[in-house]
Amino acid sequence: MKFGTKAIHAGQEPDPTTGAIMTPIYQTSTYVQESPGVHKGFAYARGKNPTRLALENCLAALENAKFGLCFSSGMGAADAIIKLLNPGDEVIATDDLYGGSYRMFTKVFAKYGIQFHFVDMHDFSAMENCVNANTRMIWVETPTNPMMKIIDIEACVQFAKKHQLISIIDNTFASPYLQNPLDLEADIVMHSATKYLGGHSDVVMGAICCNSDSLYEQLAFIANSCGATPGPQDSFLVLRGLKTLHVRMDRHCSNGAAVAHFLKNHPKVDRVYWPGFEEHPNHHVAKKQMKNFGGMISFSLKGDQFEDAKKLAMAVRVFSLAESLGGVESLLGHPASMTHASIPKEERERSGITDSLLRLSVGIEDEHDLISDLEQALNAVS
Ligand SMILES: *Cc1c(COP(=O)(O)O)cnc(C)c1O
Repeated sequence: MKFGTKAIHAGQEPDPTTGAIMTPIYQTSTYVQESPGVHKGFAYARGKNPTRLALENCLAALENAKFGLCFSSGMGAADAIIKLLNPGDEVIATDDLYGGSYRMFTKVFAKYGIQFHFVDMHDFSAMENCVNANTRMIWVETPTNPMMKIIDIEACVQFAKKHQLISIIDNTFASPYLQNPLDLEADIVMHSATKYLGGHSDVVMGAICCNSDSLYEQLAFIANSCGATPGPQDSFLVLRGLKTLHVRMDRHCSNGAAVAHFLKNHPKVDRVYWPGFEEHPNHHVAKKQMKNFGGMISFSLKGDQFEDAKKLAMAVRVFSLAESLGGVESLLGHPASMTHASIPKEERERSGITDSLLRLSVGIEDEHDLISDLEQALNAVS
């Protein structure tokens, strides 16, 4: 089956008791057993819930995976993955990682004796230099936030195989519609389902997909033991969100392209970071591993003044000033004062997060309204 059909049908059967076409919200914490220890596979809802199971199977189908596993947030999924490791183990991770992953690695897991090396994943000799007898895992995020760097998934997976590391790809920014890392033989794909998968800014959830029975068993054991599993209402919302993922992503991509080109030609805009431009340093890699270039764009203003970025952020009317991404509505963020405020200015600027850098999550509104909104907001900038 093709993606759009799987998004709507995979993992879902009409309800056997009523024929309801939508998977019911099984709002229950426990299940009645036929006799002690004999049940239909459902014993207690932290471990398993039918609404969640339908979602997990649908997600697995979309990532071309054997297994899917959902968590109460993207960070809950990431937490479970790191718990595959033991004290003394080491991880190589993308240098401009999602801030929450960076915070969890350095502030939570470092004190349990797991060591993280943050490297520029365009530089394989730097990556080689980080590998030692304790290295177990490579954590890749692409496209990156907010600089929209593209990392070569296939090359990273080959690097992981060579050194017998577990390869993890955080596929949140691309969604399974644009990119399927398991097809490139990555071991684990993780998502913040809060973003494109849910797609309507009304739910927080995480997900993992993989093909290995052993990894799945370990991760399911961790999920049930540690308990960061999602409830049935939230599972239903993401299951419903998935039904339009392909349609939404097509619009995110076409609106994204239109906005990126508009910004690039605007006299007040300095640089635009979007992997669809031919001059993007890894455009060829994006073309190789992604179906299209997505709706995430960052840009800076000429003169690089924080005051100008602030004026623009206050002047938008269709875009909303907010963290997060991947919803139907367009959002604008100012990384230096919002998502990346805790990073010291010098370190921030070294990775390109300058004072005027703004990040857009282009939604699926009318393209012309989005562009005229940005045009009037740019007029507010001196
Ligand atoms: C949002 C996000 C996360 C964390 O997910 P939550 O659902 O917010 O816990 C992880 N990785 C990326 C790339 C994200 O954008």
